[in-house]
Parts: sequence; structure tokens; C-alpha cells
Amino acid sequence: MMNRIDYLRISLIDRCNFRCTYCMPEDAEIDYLLKQDLLTQSELLTLLREVFIPAGFTRFRLTGGEPLIRSDIVEIVDAIAALPETQDLSLTTNGFLLPEKAQALYNAGLRRVNISLDSLDAATFDQLIGRRSTGSKTNWDKVWSGIQTAHAVGFDPLKLNVVVVPGVNDREILDLAALSIDREWHVRFIEFMPIGNGDLFEKAGWVSSADLREQIGQRYGIEESTVRGNGPADIFKIPNAKGTLGFISQMSECFCDRCNRMRLSADGMLRPCLLNETGQIDLKTELRQGTDLAEIRDRVIRLVEWKPEINYKLRDSGSTEGYARSMSQIGG
Ligand code: SAM
Ligand code: SF4
Repeated sequence: MMNRIDYLRISLIDRCNFRCTYCMPEDAEIDYLLKQDLLTQSELLTLLREVFIPAGFTRFRLTGGEPLIRSDIVEIVDAIAALPETQDLSLTTNGFLLPEKAQALYNAGLRRVNISLDSLDAATFDQLIGRRSTGSKTNWDKVWSGIQTAHAVGFDPLKLNVVVVPGVNDREILDLAALSIDREWHVRFIEFMPIGNGDLFEKAGWVSSADLREQIGQRYGIEESTVRGNGPADIFKIPNAKGTLGFISQMSECFCDRCNRMRLSADGMLRPCLLNETGQIDLKTELRQGTDLAEIRDRVIRLVEWKPEINYKLRDSGSTEGYARSMSQIGG
């Protein structure tokens, strides 16, 4: 049976206040989008109402780059949450700006948030995010306080995303997994992919989900969870833990056949697959040229039907060579 494609990941901006070593190429100049090339809030809402919702999309995730550095983020959340067809709205963030923004986002209707947290050690954290801490609080303190604020405000489920980079944060796998024991937090390990910083990937390598489960299982025990996610994560838990462990294994196990999503980049490119730009549609240009919305909708519906044939199948090809974009540019 064909998967229902109803989930849109929307990148609101390609810029970021961090420069994570696994996400962005080290030292390289990045061609960031100019402000006038970003989809405006009103263009985004027009696309959702007139194109994506009629094409069957009802679940939306806001991401980036770092979505919280977009000055109109709260209004965008408010507008999407208010659409009657929105069944699910979530956001992925590095958490740095959550201490000041979590409450406003919650009030605007956001209920689900994923926060990236790759280390519990302030110095390793700085190394991973490519930013030196300044002032009395470390960068890690600020992100941790963002996580605590999100928890206190009532975000549920609260998910923490971890990318393990061998030689950098792999000694913390057990400590990060243990965050799910006493709290109802969902710790999700995403296999490091060779996009963004291929050199680091070549040098450091990656750790498979099976290997992580083995390590966690030996220390704490591990069992399949009865909780089912609706995304690509395989859900496990430490016995008697309050939260769960998710494993996203796009390197070791191809899950293209269960893929239910498309990606809209900050400049309005609709991509059917994370790693394949075949068939992409430049929605911003179509909108700004005044193309009839019904025609744009038909093209999107055709792309949705075509998607299963163009999924990239990273495992089958074994490489992303020649793929120049980073997760921050595509909208991870
Ligand atoms: N800035 C936000 C954040 O970091 O959560 C949202 C955007 S970020 C691109 C989304 C997710 O992509 C993060 O969880 C990040 O860890 C992940 N990511 C970035 N580069 C990756 C890579 N090369 N391999 C695996 N995951 C990656
Ligand atoms: Fe920024 Fe997120 Fe990429 Fe880190 S992973 S550089 S926080 S976009």
C-alpha cells in the first residue's frame, strides 16, 4: 500500500545562531539566502491554505536553520495552529532562544517541540555547536534552561535529538539515554549522515542505531516500546523508564518505503525527498509570478504521486557524494 504523504517540514530560515560541526561545513563560506528570498509569512500561509492542505497535508513541522531566530516565529505558529485543518504542529530547535520564547510559542498554539542536545558537558557542547561560550552562563546552560522552560510551560511530548559523532560525544551515549529514565522525555538518536560536513563524516565515521542499542542495553537493559511514533523513529525504552528512546536509522536501515513527508525550503523550494532534488518545484517563483493557485496545487499533487519513485534510498546508494546542501539549508 502506498504511504499517505501528509507531513510537511517547513524550513523558515536557513541561517542559524549555532554552527554545529556535523551540520555545516567547517570554515566554508555559506551562501545564505537574502531576506527578500525567504517566503514571507503571508506567502507561506497562502501556500498552506490553497495548495498543501487541499493536496492532503495536515501535519506541519517548523524547522531551519534555526526557526526561533525568525522574528515573526510566534505569529507564524499562531496562524498555522489556527488553521482548522492543522492536525499536528511541531517545531525543531536548538533550544538556545527557548527561555524567552517557549511561553509565547505555547500560547500561540504550539504543543510539540524537538530540541537538539548532543552533549551534557559544556566544553564538548561548545565544540559540537562551533560556538564559544561568553558571559556567566555557558551555551549549554542556556540550552538546558531552554529545555527546562519548555518542560515547565507544558510542551508534551518533549523530544531531545542527539547526533553521535565518534570521538566527540560518543562517551556520553549512556548519560544522554539516561535522561529518559526519570522524566517523560523522548531521547532520539539520529544516525550521523554525510550531509553538511562530509569531511568530518569521513574522518569520524558514524555509530549505527543497533550499536547504540547494544551499548544502552548492556548498561540499563532495553525493550521495544508499546508507544508507536508516526515518523521514522523505532521506539524503545529502558525498562521502567518514564520516557522513551527513539532511533532514526536512515544510514543503516532504509525507511524510504515508509516516508510520509516532503520538505519546503525557506526560499520556497518543495523537495519530495531529503536527498533527491528531482522534480522539485520553485513555489516562491510561481507565487510571485502570479501562477494560478489551482495550477500550482495540481503540480504539487502530481509530485506527491510521483514521490515513491524518486526517494533517494541512501542505503542502496551508500553515498551522498556530489550532494552539496547541508541540513540547515534543506530544513532538517
Ligand atoms: N536548528 C534546529 C536544530 O538543530 O534542532 C533545527 C534544524 S536542524 C538542521 C534539524 C536536525 O537535523 C537536528 O536535530 C540536527 O541534529 C540534525 N542534523 C543536522 N545535520 C545532520 C547530519 N549531518 N546528520 C544527521 N542529523 C543532522
Ligand atoms: Fe544550526 Fe540546527 Fe544545524 Fe546546529 S543542527 S547548525 S543548530 S541548523
